[in-house]
Order: sequence, then structure tokens, then C-alpha cells
Amino acid sequence: MTTILYDADADLELIRQKRVAIIGYGSQGHAHALNLRDSGCDVLIGLPAESKSRERARQDGWSPLLPHEAAAQAEVIMLLVPDQIQGQVYTQSIQPGLAPGKLLLIAHGFSLQYRQVVPDETIDVAMVAPNGPGAQLRHMYSQGSGIPALWTVYQDVTGRARDLTLSYARALGCTRAGVIQTTLAEETETDLFAEQVVLCGGLTSLIRTAFETLVEAGYQPEVAYTCCLQEVKLIADLLYKGGIHFMHNSISDTAEFGDYRTGPRIIDEHTRGNMRQALKDIQDGSFAREWIQENQAGQPMLKAWRRQDATHPIETVGEHMRKLLP
Ligand code: NDP
Repeated sequence: MTTILYDADADLELIRQKRVAIIGYGSQGHAHALNLRDSGCDVLIGLPAESKSRERARQDGWSPLLPHEAAAQAEVIMLLVPDQIQGQVYTQSIQPGLAPGKLLLIAHGFSLQYRQVVPDETIDVAMVAPNGPGAQLRHMYSQGSGIPALWTVYQDVTGRARDLTLSYARALGCTRAGVIQTTLAEETETDLFAEQVVLCGGLTSLIRTAFETLVEAGYQPEVAYTCCLQEVKLIADLLYKGGIHFMHNSISDTAEFGDYRTGPRIIDEHTRGNMRQALKDIQDGSFAREWIQENQAGQPMLKAWRRQDATHPIETVGEHMRKLLP
């Protein structure tokens, strides 16, 4: 049975008594830093001298340090740089300033799970992974609410890692919504699976293939765009609010009948096999190896896919339609 913890289960004073370094000031970094500051924490920002994010941090009232300076001066270090460079940032900027008993935090398990970061044995290591982008994390906190998070302790040398991690989650606003205990493997593998199979990869492939099918059959691209892409938000909102059965109750009987009849013919047993393979690739590290090699090679495939992505007809139609139907 899942354990969900709330504000009452976390002592905010623990994190307020520590100095926290936020390394990186992007989507997650800015939200963590601002939420922690508003929760009364002592926060330092670590960014490279040439970082584009320095300007944004300054506008938010920070005086960013270099990553190794911030890490050395803090007792709690939250690593919020892109997953693919966390190993390098840990070795170059965090490790030199480590002292026994410090707490290293991450917001997604990739770098630890796939051994990109191999933390020193003398420190505590834990994860607080908010279930949403930084903008949402900040927005909900500012509204007096919060977004849920997954958390786990990976390495507890001091015996205090659990309480300090929960205290951090409280300062972030996540215990207002509820935090779920997980394991590093579960968070990493389910997160990668969901983004590849449903949220990003699955959804975009479904939308594009449906759009291409309609256009190929002679329908107007503008109509295909509206019904296959734009209306996704309406259905997603219903799913978010009440789940699949609730969504089914909110759509027309015709749409619901078509859902039961045709949905399983589109996402069929062949697709299930592909999903199982995608999960296997994540579990056995094949996906991570590919992604790490891709980065070592300078991201050639990612760059090529981005070019294809930007020039697909659905983008041209979409740009046009978003202006006409704001
Ligand atoms: P972003 O790409 O938005 O931000 C990365 C930040 O790190 C930028 O400020 C970047 O600066 C900075 N940076 C780059 N190189 C270095 C360096 N060498 N030293 C210090 N800072 C550096 O990343 P995210 O916020 O999206 O991701 C951070 C972590 O949060 C990842 O582990 C991710 O998986 C996790 N996460 C992300 C979520 C999301 O929705 N975005 C949700 C939950 C977890 P510059 O501007 O100069 O590039």
C-alpha cells in the first residue's frame, strides 16, 4: 500500500537550519529556489560563469555563485542540471566541496540509477521528484497549494536523511499536496516509460499519424489539426479531473461507442508488445546507454529529429490555426 505523507509528517525547521545550494536555474531550479526562499530557507544558486540562466536568477534577486562555490558552502545540494550532464557536474563541481554528512538531492533518478553519478559513501543521498514542470511547481506554491512529488532516500549515512528530505519537500510545497515514497528504480523506470510511451512519444506519434491519415485521405489539414491535436486538451482536462470513466460520461454516446470499438484496434496486442519492449529497454539500461552515447557524440540524432519535427506539415498548419483560433 502506498504511503502518502503531508505537511504534518514533515518538520520545516530542519531544512531552515541548513544552507541549501540549488545547482542549475532552469525549469526546476528556479521553482525550487524561489519556493525554498519563500519558505524561509537559506538558499545559494550555483551556475557556470557563462550560463544563460544567470540573468534570470539575477532578475529574481539572486547573486549566483559558481557551482563549486555554492556546493562547497552548502550542507544540502540539489542537483538541477540536465540529467545527461549530472555525472560531469557532480565530479567537477560538487565532489571537491563535499564533507561527510552533507545531503545530495536529485529531482529524477536517471543519473544515479544508470551510475552517471556515483556518490561518495560519506554523504546522504535522496530524491524529491516533483510530479510536474517547474512553472507549475512555482505557480501552485504561490497559490498556497503545491504539486505532489515522489521521494526516496538512496543513501543514509547520518540517519537523518529521511527527515531532512521530507523537510525539503515541505519547503517546496509538495507535502501540501502529498508526497509518495518510491524507490530510485521505480521513479526512473516509470517516469521514462510514461514519457516515452504515453505523455510524449506515444501521444505525438498518435497525433501525427492520425493527422497524416486524414490529410492523405483528402481532408483539410486545418480540420485534421483541430480534431486530432487541439482537442486533446479538452479530453486531457477531463481525464485529469476524473479519470477515464468520468471522461466517458462527459463525451457523447457516439464518441464513447467509437472509443470502445476502435481504440483497442489502434492500440492492439502488437502495440502492447512494443510497450513491453520499451520497458525492457529502460529496465536493462539499453535506453540509457543510447542516450548517454548520443550525448557523447554531440546529439546528432536529437538534432536531426528536432529539424524533422519543426518542419512537419502539422507545425505549419498549427502555427496558422493558433493565430486564427487563439
Ligand atoms: P533545465 O534544462 O530546464 O535547466 C538546467 C539548468 O542547469 C539551467 O539553468 C542551465 O543553465 C543549468 N546548467 C547547465 N550546465 C550547468 C553546469 N555545468 N552547472 C550548473 N548549472 C548548469 O533542466 P530541468 O530543470 O528540466 O531539469 C533539472 C532536473 O530536474 C533533471 O534531473 C530533470 O530530470 C528533473 N525534473 C525535471 C522536470 C521538468 O518538468 N522539467 C520535472 C521533474 C524533474 P543554462 O541556462 O546556461 O543552460
